[in-house]
Amino acid sequence: METVTTISDIRKAVAKAKSDGKTIGLVPTMGALHAGHLSLIEAAKTKCDFIVVSIFVNPTQFGPTEDLDKYPRDFETDQAMCKKTGADIIFAPTDKEMYPIQNLTWVTVEKITENLCGKSRPQHFRGVTTVCTKLFNIVQPDLAYFGQKDAQQAIVIQRMVADMNMPLEIVVCPIIREPDGLAMSSRNKYLTNDQRTDACLLYKALIECEKMVSNGQRNTNTIRTIMLDVLGRSKNITPQYISFVDCQTLKNIEVIESKALVAIAANLGKTRLIDNIIVDAGI
Ligand code: AMP
Repeated sequence: METVTTISDIRKAVAKAKSDGKTIGLVPTMGALHAGHLSLIEAAKTKCDFIVVSIFVNPTQFGPTEDLDKYPRDFETDQAMCKKTGADIIFAPTDKEMYPIQNLTWVTVEKITENLCGKSRPQHFRGVTTVCTKLFNIVQPDLAYFGQKDAQQAIVIQRMVADMNMPLEIVVCPIIREPDGLAMSSRNKYLTNDQRTDACLLYKALIECEKMVSNGQRNTNTIRTIMLDVLGRSKNITPQYISFVDCQTLKNIEVIESKALVAIAANLGKTRLIDNIIVDAGI
């Protein structure tokens, strides 16, 4: 497995693979890889014969007070994990390679970036959609793989690709969890032992929601109150939002009538964690 750091080298490698008739899969990541990332590579292996993993901690998606500087970076371990899982090449550009001059051109998706994480992270999705557009233009994959873990991100990227007629397919893969239910995340590394123990309450709250919906509860305010009680079992958890939204428009839902995305964001100390499930009242 090769690692390249320049746009010209990844373009050459992809051009060669395309000329050999291979289907190109891209797995965009910020590194500090875990089993969630590897599941995207595994999924890519089922449909693609040349898999590019990009590793780039994208500065434009971090707010000024966020964790860009301390974001976990462990390139050698990432390389070993990619190799073992069967990636063909890592594209790990520097900031200068991706943003050689002041970036004046931004890709923004309206409306669906305003709710949920967009409320507290106003520039975040602009950074994500801009860097993904750049990665799609650089790598020109046939398919790109994203995790349901970042549900809003996946919906925003799918919408951008549809609106802009970008010539690739977006595949969204299920959330990989720790044995206690905590969604895997590079940011879990920040948690203290106590915080880590309590972090599974996010998932427990989502499971409680799922149970209530399957028992016929449809009122989101009622469900939210119970979910807040679950999170309230830990003093370490400060909920940021528990939202019930339409899976396409991401507009808030008062009464669950069919499918709904139930999304949680909460702080454990300075660490912000997110998780979600999709519930279906129509079943
Ligand atoms: P990140 O490195 O955090 O930017 O994540 C890179 C990709 O991995 C994104 O598409 C994430 O949604 C996905 N991802 C992160 N955590 C998980 C997880 N626990 N399960 C599945 N996919 C994940």
